[in-house]
Amino acid sequence: MPPSITPLGPARDDQDDLVFLDEPATQTTGGAQRSAWRVMIIDDDEDVHSTTTFALGSLEMQGRPLEFVHAYSAAQARELLKHEHDIAVILLDVVMEQDDAGLHLVRHIREVLKLADVRIILRTGQPGYAPEIDAIRDFDINDYKTKSELTRIKLYTTVTAAVRSYEQIRKISDSRRGLNQIVHAGTELMALHGVRNFAAGVLAQAASLLGQQANGVLCVQECPDTGCTDLAVMAAMGGFHHLGNRDVTVHSDARVLAGMEQAVSRRRNVYTGDAVALYFAGKSSRVFVAWLEMPRPPTELEERLLEVFCANVAVGLDNVELVSHLHNAAFYDNLSKLPNRTRLIEILDATLAGPARDDATLSLVDLDHFAETNDALGHAFGDTLLVAVAMRLQTSLGQQLTVARISGDIFGVLGDATQVNPAAILALFQKPFSIDGQDVQLSATLGLVRLCEHDGNGSDALKDADIALKRAKSQQRSGHFYFTRSMGVEIRERVRMMHALRTAFSKNELFVMYQPQIDLRTRRPVGAEALLRWRTADGKFVSPDRFIPIAEYSGLIIELGEWVLRTACHELVTLRAAGHEDFTMSINVSQVQFRHPLFLQMLKQALADTGAPPEYVELEITESMAMEEPNLLIEMLAQIKQTGVSIAIDDFGTGFSSLSYLQRLQIDRLKIDRAFVTEITHSARGSSIAEMVIQLGRNLGLSVIAEGVEDERQAQILYSLGCPMAQGFLFAKPMTADVLDAWLGKDALKGVA
Ligand code: C2E
Ligand code: CA
Ligand code: CA
Repeated sequence: MPPSITPLGPARDDQDDLVFLDEPATQTTGGAQRSAWRVMIIDDDEDVHSTTTFALGSLEMQGRPLEFVHAYSAAQARELLKHEHDIAVILLDVVMEQDDAGLHLVRHIREVLKLADVRIILRTGQPGYAPEIDAIRDFDINDYKTKSELTRIKLYTTVTAAVRSYEQIRKISDSRRGLNQIVHAGTELMALHGVRNFAAGVLAQAASLLGQQANGVLCVQECPDTGCTDLAVMAAMGGFHHLGNRDVTVHSDARVLAGMEQAVSRRRNVYTGDAVALYFAGKSSRVFVAWLEMPRPPTELEERLLEVFCANVAVGLDNVELVSHLHNAAFYDNLSKLPNRTRLIEILDATLAGPARDDATLSLVDLDHFAETNDALGHAFGDTLLVAVAMRLQTSLGQQLTVARISGDIFGVLGDATQVNPAAILALFQKPFSIDGQDVQLSATLGLVRLCEHDGNGSDALKDADIALKRAKSQQRSGHFYFTRSMGVEIRERVRMMHALRTAFSKNELFVMYQPQIDLRTRRPVGAEALLRWRTADGKFVSPDRFIPIAEYSGLIIELGEWVLRTACHELVTLRAAGHEDFTMSINVSQVQFRHPLFLQMLKQALADTGAPPEYVELEITESMAMEEPNLLIEMLAQIKQTGVSIAIDDFGTGFSSLSYLQRLQIDRLKIDRAFVTEITHSARGSSIAEMVIQLGRNLGLSVIAEGVEDERQAQILYSLGCPMAQGFLFAKPMTADVLDAWLGKDALKGVA
């Protein structure tokens, strides 16, 4: 069998007046020179092979020579076609091994090998073997000729037409591929963050469009009214790599600079043969230009694709700044320009993963009373103050530190423990901050976490620091606290208890006890304080001092408090029905309840629903609550008073209410804290706090009750000091409603003790 590829010999033409080339192209498969059109001849007649190559061999079509691939049977053709690509035209004999071997081969080429581009010209010896017209259409057969029809000129024109059509098809599919690649490049590029990554991506994608490795540089030029800046390097790849590390103007290579400047001035791509200067029209006064080295000149199609690519990417290059901007907004605080919480968590994650964790400490820096400063001096002033704090934190503690703004007036400082320590940070607040010529003295509270002791992620570390900060704040202002593992345990325990409390409430494990209040003169009970109790399933009592703060913290106190109020009101009504008509009921109200916008409404509704007379209901609020937000409290108390309910201040003496302030509050009673009752027997007469409270009550025209009275001496001293009422284990412990009903019925009339 002859070789399937025919090296063309010199050809002469003595029949047609076609010009034959003296120098036939020497062709090899797969060589560097791929610019010949490849024509495959499939025919079992060897003569057909030689006449065809003789007829066409030395001709050029569309400026390119022909190269022949030979197959002598359909089977051999199948084999060859497995590896032979970019065959432009197949001249195919219909009748070979079988009468319709050629037609089967066509089906195989189109359907199995999926070679859609190759043009097929069917040839047959006899007119009778013409394929069905359907087959010609279905299998995209270019032409059908009887062999006798194919004179040399006919063959030439037929193959030329096929080559032209092949070229057209290839262009279309190349450009479709190219366009696909551009679209793909667009999405790839969009996934890159940062202007520089994007620019490098643009170079890589432009090169890949040309089937090359990126070897070039991409620059930006700003042209405001004052004139254009130099071309600044945004990305440099391949042989230009050295430019990438320096943000310098490309002066090094005059040829590159000239090419790029030409592209800028002409506002289009400039091709020099061995390189291209790509022009990307940027927004308003900004342009982007790239220089890409090319080992060969681009084809016409490639030039057009590059243009489409550049137009696409120009939008992207502008957008990517927008994206970076959004990135900045997501990771940096706009006011202070410091990293924000999200970014700090990223940095913490990185620190925890690296060697720096061993020495690193995170500190939250919470400015004390910043809200007041902000309210008093205005938000603009507050903003300036925050920026000043940010500046001082960043410049004073050391270069290696990360300073972030976590939220309003809380900053985060992360760095080496030698720099990030309470003494160093708090020292920064000793000097006042000078804002608009005004000196502002600030103080701060710190919550710190040593990262070496931390076994969670960055976000957990921040939470721990926050726990430490809360602890520091609850203990003293202008202090600091390091997070310890036990604090974490404590928090988890609290969360556990929160769930348990909620379950207990829904399972009716909570109930109210009543502790009688006694008239010290008659020693008769005149009222009771409702106290909440929680007995767990295993019979243990949890102290309200433990679970009330949790109920407050979780908000459950709103429901719980309402339930206690209703239960106590109900008990009051029951007692009244049993004949205890002057009996009063004191109910504890927590600050969280009191602040709830619907508190007043809830109170009125509970009174109405239970039918409890408001004049016999007293609410106990703590003194610490009375000190916060004075105006709100004054307003609130006035409204409560209108319902007829009276108010007592619980734990009185532990806070620091001023006399003038107390006068403005519409309260009825002061409750002397147990601590001062205990102390009364030890202190010299006339110097006790209890005595002062009793006097204060007298001066303000308020009733006074002492709580926690445990022994007779205390009761007597209190009575002699002028305290009319008392509550305590001396008289009665808190008791359930049933016990209270019985106790009142039995003991109330004959007096206690
Ligand atoms: P509190 O309002 O000061 O209640 C008085 C506490 O002193 C009660 O503790 C009571 O049992 C206890 N006590 C009474 N007499 C004596 C005595 O002679 N000696 C001693 N050592 N203690 C005495 P309890 O019931 O454990 O309540 C603790 C705190 O829990 C209450 O302090 C109150 O602040 C809060 N609390 C209890 N029930 C409620 C409630 O329904 N709502 C709200 N918001 N807080 C409640
Ligand atoms: Ca109380
Ligand atoms: Ca109390």
